[in-house]
Amino acid sequence: PPLYAKRYRLAVETLTKYDIKSVIDFGCAECHFVKHLSSVPCLEAIALVDINKELLVSKQKTIAPELRHFIFKRKNPLHVSLLAGSAEETDSRVSHFEGVTMIELIEHLYPDVLQKVTHNVFGNIKPRLCLVTTPNSEFNVLFKNADPNKFRHWDHKFEWNQTEFKSWCEEICRRYNYIVEYTGVGLLPDKETHHLGYCSQAAVFCLNHQRVFSQSLSNEHFSLCYELIAEADY
Ligand code: SAM
Repeated sequence: PPLYAKRYRLAVETLTKYDIKSVIDFGCAECHFVKHLSSVPCLEAIALVDINKELLVSKQKTIAPELRHFIFKRKNPLHVSLLAGSAEETDSRVSHFEGVTMIELIEHLYPDVLQKVTHNVFGNIKPRLCLVTTPNSEFNVLFKNADPNKFRHWDHKFEWNQTEFKSWCEEICRRYNYIVEYTGVGLLPDKETHHLGYCSQAAVFCLNHQRVFSQSLSNEHFSLCYELIAEADY
């Protein structure tokens, strides 16, 4: 399968393993991930959030159930909402969600925005689980005709090597009380290249203790700062 499908599979397996009931997918872009998320049995609520409202409006039909969903009915109902907004802020409709995914999002953020997004996710929402994927710059030498002075995508603000990614992750763990496990997708079978790591590096963050109510802010603390574009029920 292509790399993006492997990233979705990793995310689906992780959400399933931790029995996550509600997930925010920040930077949902064309909403492709919902096609995979909608068949995860443990999920009851999915919020797809992206800052690009025009893109969400043009893709809003993507979140609607397909024929297969009527044939293979889910055991538990699932509510999907498509919201325009920034991962820098939290909306009261999603502030209590248990999981967050950020698939190929962080490398699109300037340092000041990344800092705000990091604080919002781990300091405000404090999900039980968060999955982050981002390109691994060490892998780039394996791309044919790659220009070492260019990023993989024109909109990337950075591409981190494995050490840079780990130091960002470890700072999160220290500051916000998380534990992290590293993984990735797109490892080549060739042992000679294993030190370069995965094509997409990934981190699975778990909150280091059961969430204590007094430590998390209540829903009322947050406003309705996202704009609802569409909703669907499965
Ligand atoms: N997660 C997508 C997937 O797997 O198909 C790909 C993400 S795409 C490469 C990056 C997305 O992040 C873009 O759609 C962009 O609009 C969005 N984005 C950029 N800054 C954002 C922010 N502050 N909050 C939410 N989304 C943001």
